[in-house]
Amino acid sequence: MDTFVHPGFPARVVFGSGTRERIPEEMAALGCGRVLVLSTPGKTARASELSDLLGDLAVGAFTEAVPHTPVATTERAVAFARALEADCVLAVGGGSTIGLGKAVALRTGLPQLVLPMTYAGSEMTPILGETSEGRKTTRRLPEVRPRVVIYDVDLTLTLPPAISAVSGLNALAHAVEALYAQDRDPVTSLLAETAISALGSALPEVALRPRDTRVRAEALYGAWLAGMCLGTVGMALHHKICHVLGGAFDLPHAETHAVLLPHVVAYNAPAAEQATAAITRVLGGPDAATALREFADRLGAPRALRDLGMPEEGIDQAADLVVRQAYWNPRPVDREAARRLLSRAWAGEAPRSDIEP
Ligand code: NAD
Repeated sequence: MDTFVHPGFPARVVFGSGTRERIPEEMAALGCGRVLVLSTPGKTARASELSDLLGDLAVGAFTEAVPHTPVATTERAVAFARALEADCVLAVGGGSTIGLGKAVALRTGLPQLVLPMTYAGSEMTPILGETSEGRKTTRRLPEVRPRVVIYDVDLTLTLPPAISAVSGLNALAHAVEALYAQDRDPVTSLLAETAISALGSALPEVALRPRDTRVRAEALYGAWLAGMCLGTVGMALHHKICHVLGGAFDLPHAETHAVLLPHVVAYNAPAAEQATAAITRVLGGPDAATALREFADRLGAPRALRDLGMPEEGIDQAADLVVRQAYWNPRPVDREAARRLLSRAWAGEAPRSDIEP
């Protein structure tokens, strides 16, 4: 076995159904007694329900979280937290709300508790993406890792099937890229394979029975493990392309992941044999890219970047951005290879591994 480093997982995790009832004891364990609840405007009712549950422990709710964590929103939340003398924050929602919690924690040092409602996995990472003056910067900062993550399966029952599918594929992408990460380690690879297995069996069931707690628990379990992969090892070409497309064309986050994953896996396959073998071991299929494409099709996920609003003229610009400050990738990527991969994904064609770098 090769030499490796496995950094461990600093967050405390409480997992199950009804686990939101445990927030008071988790706050007490942190030495906290004044929580500011964070959510998006769409989740105000959930934020109120939690505030009611917490009684005097909740000193207020800030319900203005939006995608891409704009610094101006964060500054309003920080001022609100200070005015209320909050001693911790509780983010309830998906990656947008969790991003706000991290940004507030960075500026105030307040510990964060998180109740995730999607499968995006941000709660398990030290990654913070923030937007200011139209530019998104993404950093890895150990101090933004949430301290306590409370996975309450009940909160995911309302996630609509279409969002569940693409959010689940977003999680799957973390696990897939972990399998061929430059700094992969055996423990993270084990988590990745288990995540793919859990998501692989649960997501089609979620589509059929979105309010079934058992299948939702398995999907959330897979998402947790995939989030640990994202938070532990470096991501490669797939995440780079998704960040470029989100930033340059404002494409929807999870849907973009869903379209691109089979294409990037097809491209990387010749240089990632162990990873692709693990994927087919779990998902079946003639090869990893085909298995991923068929899986996404089964979930009814979008196939083409053009259907997500990407202009065809944007392909060249995106290819330039992908190779500029590229992430490490198991197979070298030049501008032409990136352009051809993006063209196929734009048109919704089948993934192919014979694109030459
Ligand atoms: P999101 O938080 O924007 O939520 C997506 C949509 O689903 C929203 O409309 C939301 O209201 C709705 N929703 C969420 N949970 C719901 C529920 N249980 N029931 C009903 N509706 C629900 O999207 P996301 O995909 O969770 O996160 C995407 C954002 O997170 C992006 O900005 C991305 O960059 C960021 N992200 C960051 C990291 C990281 O490690 N920093 C990781 C993954 C994603």
